[in-house]
Amino acid sequence: MKLNEYDVTEPYHAIIKSTTLLTPADHPTEVRHIVLDIPDPTFNFTEGQSVGVLIPGPHKFGNPHHLRLYTVASASNGESGNPSEVSICVRRCSYIDDVSGEEVEGVASNFLCDASVGDKIEITGPYGRHFTMPQDKSSNLLMIGTGTGIAPFRAFVKHIYEESGGWEGKVRLFYGAQTGMEMLYMNDSSDDISQYLDKETFTAIQALSPRPHFNDPIDLQGALESHESEIWEMVNKPNTYVYVAGQESTKEHLDKAMTTMAGSEEAWHETLQKLENEDRWSELLY
Ligand code: FAD
Repeated sequence: MKLNEYDVTEPYHAIIKSTTLLTPADHPTEVRHIVLDIPDPTFNFTEGQSVGVLIPGPHKFGNPHHLRLYTVASASNGESGNPSEVSICVRRCSYIDDVSGEEVEGVASNFLCDASVGDKIEITGPYGRHFTMPQDKSSNLLMIGTGTGIAPFRAFVKHIYEESGGWEGKVRLFYGAQTGMEMLYMNDSSDDISQYLDKETFTAIQALSPRPHFNDPIDLQGALESHESEIWEMVNKPNTYVYVAGQESTKEHLDKAMTTMAGSEEAWHETLQKLENEDRWSELLY
């Protein structure tokens, strides 16, 4: 669905409750954990959904609004158990303008990263398919993501170990970032996910770029392939649910790794089809 097709007619009023750096202050990549307070009780969401943020105008080319989506990073009963609060994880974006060659700031991400506690903003949604968690706690959960794609997995892990009282099946998180300092919620700035690593059923496997200063791609494929036997065994069990989130390129690396594990592209497509047909495969890619 295109951004201009989303219904933005009745936005919710939200207040910035807190804004916290998830990356070191002197790091070139800036990602923030932003908690929004949305007092309207009709605003509800579930893991895997995204909220729209409407940026105040005027906008370029006469556009009536600038809407961008951000995946919720809170479990469905609200941030820290407060039903009116929802968190998002925002990377400050910029791009090089094709015509002028100048660096231009992304509108919504800079607006959000510059926002202060107490600022009022407009939120729409939530949108998107839920990342439905199985009821049966003996199910296996395989979560694969990169960058800010960690947001729905923070929500999952918190839901599992804080709200549901634990999990019996395997919970595996394969997470890729350019450097260790960009391992969001798993670095010195925040241990929101790493604090659960002592849980018996939870393992997080990190994938980094082999040469971050040269901007070499994150070796997600290598991390997946180095756990080939466990992943392939999980994927072929009828009680395993797979969730993929983050940049579109995540899917490409995942497809390559899975093709190696399956033995051929055809065999992987067959397995993927089965997972999709049985509603055991969910994607949130952007
Ligand atoms: P924009 O102002 O939209 O500009 C950013 C991009 O626009 C550039 O990278 C470039 O590709 C392009 N662009 C625009 N103008 C030009 C130009 N003149 N020349 C060249 N290129 C140009 N982001 C997060 O940080 N966290 C999330 O959890 C998250 N979840 C998402 C969930 C979904 C379902 C989707 C679809 C996206 C998600 N995003 C998330 C991405 C987010 O919605 C925004 O796209 C991102 O923050 C950039 O928006 P912006 O307004 O800051 O940048």
